[in-house]
Amino acid sequence: MGESEDVGATSRQRAAVSATRRGFLLLGLALLVGCAKKTTHVMLPNPPWPALDLSPLPEPEPVPPRYEPPPNPVPLAPSSWPSTVLARSKWAQGEPVTTRMNRLSPVRYITVHHDGMHPFFDTDQRATAARIEAIRRAHRLRGWGDIGYHYVVDRAGRVWEGRSLRYQGAHVKNHNYANIGIVALGNFDRQQPSQAQLASMRQLVSLLMDRYHVPASQVSTHQEWAPTACPGRYRQQFMNTTRRQGRLG
Ligand SMILES: [Zn+2]
Repeated sequence: MGESEDVGATSRQRAAVSATRRGFLLLGLALLVGCAKKTTHVMLPNPPWPALDLSPLPEPEPVPPRYEPPPNPVPLAPSSWPSTVLARSKWAQGEPVTTRMNRLSPVRYITVHHDGMHPFFDTDQRATAARIEAIRRAHRLRGWGDIGYHYVVDRAGRVWEGRSLRYQGAHVKNHNYANIGIVALGNFDRQQPSQAQLASMRQLVSLLMDRYHVPASQVSTHQEWAPTACPGRYRQQFMNTTRRQGRLG
């Protein structure tokens, strides 16, 4: 029967229902508009990250130039140099790697070494050249550019050119700057240096002191720079004795 009631509804009733529907619709629109109006006024919170700085980046710090030592003032072919110094080419089986070496400048120190390998008594030139070459190879295996010493004094008292005096040596760790290195062949913990060797070293040290104005206080043995057995007890004793006598070498 309800059906009949609906069917039988008057036009006034239908109009009232229709008006109510319009009311809801308008209210809904008003709410929508209201929401829309409200959102336009909402202030967004500040972002949690700092504002973007779009100003130009500062200039990068200039990179300091690579250290370039001053021009080498060391005279390389002194006219008074003993002609008995045997050139590096007489023994070396490989070229120096100059990119691994620094220039030697100036000269302030002279340091004396032994090679510290097995005892060596040969005086002939060929065996001597082979011994010096063995030292060079060992030093190259350590990554050095050439043999570490500037001069080599053999058992016969001959003087051989080692690393060119153009370049800083590699013979006293952390103290190679301005330091000429002289090595005598042999192991002076286990053998005595020969008389010819001692005389020749004394002469060489004296010549280098004169040429480069190195005072006696700056002529040393390796172990006077750092803890090491070099140049061996016999060579060190000799140095101590000659110093007490007011001589050097
Ligand atoms: Zn040494």
